[in-house]
Amino acid sequence: MKIGIDLGGSHIGVGIIESGKVVYKVEKDLKETEKGEENILNLVISEIKSIITENNFEKENIEKIGIACPGIIENGTIRKAKNLKIEKLDLKSNLEKKFRNIKIQVRNDAKCAALAEKEYGTLKGYDNSIMLTIGTGIGGAVFYNGQLLEGKKSEAFEIGHMIINKNGEKCSCKSKGCFEAYASIGNLRKRVKKELKINNEITGVELVKILRNPEKDEKINKILENYINDLAIGIANLNNIFEPEIISLGGSIVYYKDIILEKLEDILKKEEYIFNKNAIPIIVMAKLNNDAGMIGATI
Ligand SMILES: [Zn+2]
Repeated sequence: MKIGIDLGGSHIGVGIIESGKVVYKVEKDLKETEKGEENILNLVISEIKSIITENNFEKENIEKIGIACPGIIENGTIRKAKNLKIEKLDLKSNLEKKFRNIKIQVRNDAKCAALAEKEYGTLKGYDNSIMLTIGTGIGGAVFYNGQLLEGKKSEAFEIGHMIINKNGEKCSCKSKGCFEAYASIGNLRKRVKKELKINNEITGVELVKILRNPEKDEKINKILENYINDLAIGIANLNNIFEPEIISLGGSIVYYKDIILEKLEDILKKEEYIFNKNAIPIIVMAKLNNDAGMIGATI
């Protein structure tokens, strides 16, 4: 039995994972006051302790505790996780001290989702594949010959920060023109809000409704068209480098399947973005979505 934790910018999920399935889970919203290095460490420790107590687990029976979190992960240390207000936190060593003899694993959330999708979801059975997690930002992972590609210092493959426009939109990473600054759902939301002069937050459900409305404004149509085009450019760049057999899109983009997928496939076929027209990948929406981080954290 394994414990998988999905630490996101607005929620924490803790689950018991058996043979790749979530058999029990607790999910909580994460308040701003619960963020920061010390708070997050204490929260993770207390959540692990409570799931162990609630289920009457013996520590000897816990095979692994895996944590999926945003940011750059270097040997179990989280760096620059802006959404969690973490500049640097050595989560792995701290948890190892608290939970002796249990294997602790800390990995970037997009990589965790990709591993879960590779093992149990849409990427299963493919040697060369790419997973893109598209929500507030864009994360990703590449599998080549069945292996997850990783950097030497960190997990790398910061696909969201691939620059697609030299003097373009400012990104959360302080650079300009990143793929994420164009093709994240966060950016799509921002553009729609600006066009419709909406000042308050809009939910994903509301955004889908606006985009799905057949009588929507021509300007909203244009925003959507540009969004899908930018998404296609990023995907084509990745395809030209790695030539995957399949690309799976996860994160909140899965809720926009009927609005985005067909048009995206059309652009990839018709436009000249993809160099080798014989190597256009299959594009699918991810399957495991909400539990992917938790499951992938324990792989
Ligand atoms: Zn960036």
